[in-house]
Amino acid sequence: MNNKISKYKVLLFYKYVDINDPESIVKEHLDWCTRNGIKGRVFFAKEGVNGTVSGTSGQIEKYKAHLSGYSYFRDIWFKEDDADVVAFKKMHVRLKNEIVGGNLQNTLLEDGGKRLSPEQLMNFYKSGKDFIIVDARNWYETIIGKFKNAITPQMKNFREWKKVVDEDLQEYKDKTVVTYCTGGVRCEKASAYMVENGFKDVYQLNGGIFNFIKKYPDTYWEGGMFVFDERRVINPNTKEELKHIASCYFCGRPTSYYINCHNVDCDRIIVSCHECKVEKDYCCSDECRASQNKRKVYHG
Ligand SMILES: [Zn+2]
Ligand SMILES: [Zn+2]
Repeated sequence: MNNKISKYKVLLFYKYVDINDPESIVKEHLDWCTRNGIKGRVFFAKEGVNGTVSGTSGQIEKYKAHLSGYSYFRDIWFKEDDADVVAFKKMHVRLKNEIVGGNLQNTLLEDGGKRLSPEQLMNFYKSGKDFIIVDARNWYETIIGKFKNAITPQMKNFREWKKVVDEDLQEYKDKTVVTYCTGGVRCEKASAYMVENGFKDVYQLNGGIFNFIKKYPDTYWEGGMFVFDERRVINPNTKEELKHIASCYFCGRPTSYYINCHNVDCDRIIVSCHECKVEKDYCCSDECRASQNKRKVYHG
């Protein structure tokens, strides 16, 4: 996204594949990552793997070789980004029922929407095609960035997707619908659920927002992209009018940054510019600032 050489890398990856023994992989994987200084979050389940990890360029090259050394993950697609910091403090490797929790165990991957490349999405927009674009991410991700004209269901988490489809999106059943998420993993099942429930022409953005903004910054993506790591947000755009869609809760200036209120009992997500964040001591209110149960570690 820029030309300066970054010391660190962040990898984003997933693969749906039947795994016989995810328990043993979890243990082995955690050991390997700990020994090799890899930090991040990786989930394994009987249905596959979903993860994001960070480290130096050298560490990340080793990691890629290690993970794709498993026959299950030989052809896994690594999406790679530069970072100025190690994007995680710890390494978590967990066994899950689903690699993304959506209560979509009965949704079949083979029903998934047709894969739409970034080039094809560009074409949809440029040609003025009549299509609906739906964000499959949570409300706090969509408030700081989204595709032009996207529908952003205000979901607390991905488990609400079924309800969104069953209730809010019914009127679009006969339309061309495109779903998108950060790296594509949520859309595999989000789009399949729509197809299984009678939506006629469903596409999923292949490789997600990540893949699109790498190729086409300053086009149809508006604002920043929320990431679940220490970077918090990725800002792909340089055009002033496309940089931010959110505004600071405190001062109203445009920003894509956010904080989790440092009062642990509050923890709410608030869009805040850097200046206000510091001035308010990372808290949403006087009450939270006065709390005895505040986070000790500051970020950003
Ligand atoms: Zn502000
Ligand atoms: Zn608060």
